[in-house]
Amino acid sequence: MSDTQKIWLDGQLLDANEAKVSVFDHGLLYGDGIFEGIRFYEGRVFRLEEHIERLFLSARAILLKMPWSEQEVCDIVCETIRANGLKDGYVRLVVTRGSGGLGLNPYLCETPSMFCIASSIQLYPTEYYENGLELITCSTRRPTHATLSPQVKSLNYLNNVMAKIECVKAGVMEGLMLNEAGTVAECTGDTVFIVKNGVVITPKISDGALDGITRAVIFDLCERLEIEIIEDTLTRYDVYTADECFLTGTAAEVIPVVKIDDRPIGEGVPGELFRSLLSAFREETLTTGTKVSE
Ligand code: PMP
Repeated sequence: MSDTQKIWLDGQLLDANEAKVSVFDHGLLYGDGIFEGIRFYEGRVFRLEEHIERLFLSARAILLKMPWSEQEVCDIVCETIRANGLKDGYVRLVVTRGSGGLGLNPYLCETPSMFCIASSIQLYPTEYYENGLELITCSTRRPTHATLSPQVKSLNYLNNVMAKIECVKAGVMEGLMLNEAGTVAECTGDTVFIVKNGVVITPKISDGALDGITRAVIFDLCERLEIEIIEDTLTRYDVYTADECFLTGTAAEVIPVVKIDDRPIGEGVPGELFRSLLSAFREETLTTGTKVSE
């Protein structure tokens, strides 16, 4: 938090130390809310409409009535970036059920609260994009579609936090999360892809993956580069015996994985397909996007 940082909160741009939410907010009391993490590059917001569309789908899924239109939310994101004078960075957009009683009943909350934070970001140090990450398989599982759908990008990230603790304790930066059936879902904050015999494979959404915005970009880029890409159920064996593995996410972008559970992946170095996809991705981030300045 810098002295000059401006936060958009419920219609106002406030100094960071003045942007406060109530202790009775159900986002805080119950994780009752939704969010998006969005990147901007060189004054353009990457896949802004897609992020806002996913936010509104999450809102519908949890019966949260958004008091703003999709266009208004897009404008708020751009306004916050402009107010902070940033060209490159990351936006955290959060919508909570709002302030209510101590009980669970969301209908007792007055009105949803929204805030938008724009800041600079570096998730993984640069050398990891060159040398690759090491992963473990976490014992904490992704929730199933029968509990809280992993498609809802909700504020309920406690299972991801538990998995992240396992990663930190193991001295690695990311971990693979399995679903209840024991097949691969995704990582604690990233989508997982493997490459086998020239085909890029990622778990199905129904296997517990978030419908990632960067995931969709990888599908587009593979099509453009004429690389075969499919969704399939993946086991740990598939990952252990993959030729390549990489992760994607708004914050992580596209990052290689070279080891998992002590097993080197392929040659134990970032693979060729990863390299082509990373450079195509970087170009995409710099040549597309919604202009921040009006
Ligand atoms: N899975 C989880 C659990 C995440 O939090 C994220 C980050 N939003 C992703 C996957 C990657 O999704 P996206 O590409 O939309 O950022």
